[in-house]
Amino acid sequence: MHHFNYEDGHLHCEGVDLNEIADQIGTPVYVYSTATLRRHARVIAAAFDGMDCLIAYSVKANGNLAVLKTLASEGCGADVVSGGELKRALTAGIPAHRIVFSGVGKTREEMVLALETGIHQFNVESGAELIELSEVAMGLGKVAPVALRVNPDVAAGGHPNISTGKAGDKFGVPWADAPELYHQMKALPGVEAVGVDVHIGSQIGDLEPMRAAFKKTIGLVKFLRDAGHDLKRIDLGGGLGIPYQASDSPAPPSDYAQMIRDVTEGLGLQVILEPGRVIAGNAGVMVSEVLYHKPAPDRTFLIIDAGMNDLMRPALYQAHHDILPLAEPSADTPRTTYDIVGPICESTDKFAAQRKMPEVPAGGRIAFMSSGAYGAVLSSQYNARPLVAEVLVDGDQYALVRRRPSFDEMIQLEQMPDWLS
Ligand SMILES: *Cc1c(COP(=O)(O)O)cnc(C)c1O
Repeated sequence: MHHFNYEDGHLHCEGVDLNEIADQIGTPVYVYSTATLRRHARVIAAAFDGMDCLIAYSVKANGNLAVLKTLASEGCGADVVSGGELKRALTAGIPAHRIVFSGVGKTREEMVLALETGIHQFNVESGAELIELSEVAMGLGKVAPVALRVNPDVAAGGHPNISTGKAGDKFGVPWADAPELYHQMKALPGVEAVGVDVHIGSQIGDLEPMRAAFKKTIGLVKFLRDAGHDLKRIDLGGGLGIPYQASDSPAPPSDYAQMIRDVTEGLGLQVILEPGRVIAGNAGVMVSEVLYHKPAPDRTFLIIDAGMNDLMRPALYQAHHDILPLAEPSADTPRTTYDIVGPICESTDKFAAQRKMPEVPAGGRIAFMSSGAYGAVLSSQYNARPLVAEVLVDGDQYALVRRRPSFDEMIQLEQMPDWLS
């Protein structure tokens, strides 16, 4: 469900014509729908209603402050994977006690920041990190609440680049090491085991791998409780998939929630969830303008003003995005086939190969649907292109929520060495 629809022949986000945003702000530009963000947050909250549950939105999916503030106002907590994301979440008004900190490579500085802030939980990913965290916490006279992220060795399906729960993945501690690490935690005065954490990947549409991983993890919780660990929480990560095209039919949040209710029933555990994509993915589009048509012997390239530096998912994961013209095609608009590419000097700067779609003239605009998650957050200034702009729509109003930097801003971190000045 999302709020991007054709009205009066033009693609709108809620009550705003995307052409108006493109005219005012320029392209490429990301446009996010407040109503869609709110709706997704509410659907998920409602699905877990009555459970002791913390919905910790995964900031890495879309960390724009206005997006975070919108979700904070819906009661979302945050799952962060860096000190910068922690500061973003706090800046947006998400309270520390609703923030969990994940990630395989936390630095001492990040640990200090999180401990001083008083976050809800550290999701620790190795024995070495456990020792480091204990030391840092002791130095501050604090005790860090910890869930160990375990690797359940379950294949999640989906693209291998977004699977995180197989034995060969860098994430989580090896399954067999978990009991010993919980035992070691008892001897570390700066950490306290409060739960177990698992996250097996992203864009998972089939609930069975999740159910298998969660059941296995709950088995571990029971084993650890029997061994004398007072575990109060289970963090089941994120990963629920979304429809990127009509043929996708991921499990709906209600089924996902029912599965989690089933597997966690009667355990008296707080359940922590870290949804990212399912909240933000379909709440955003990227709008781009067609620069040129370039015929080649066997195809036509549609060259657009957005590049892989603005939307990296196709280059990074061979991801599919539906691409809609902003001008609604009519029954007589000719259909054609394009390879849709950007201006970046890389062969992987290709958004779609042999895409059948209505003709779009040079100067026409297109929207990459379902770009709200892992879109703008992955953008860069490669090829010295300014960072892509972001806009938030709410009903009939819209606002620029990240402007494009000027050239001077782009180079201001650089300086000439003495011998060249
Ligand atoms: C990326 C990530 C998430 C969010 O995943 P989605 O597929 O966007 O829901 C949650 N938890 C952790 C630890 C992650 O790395």
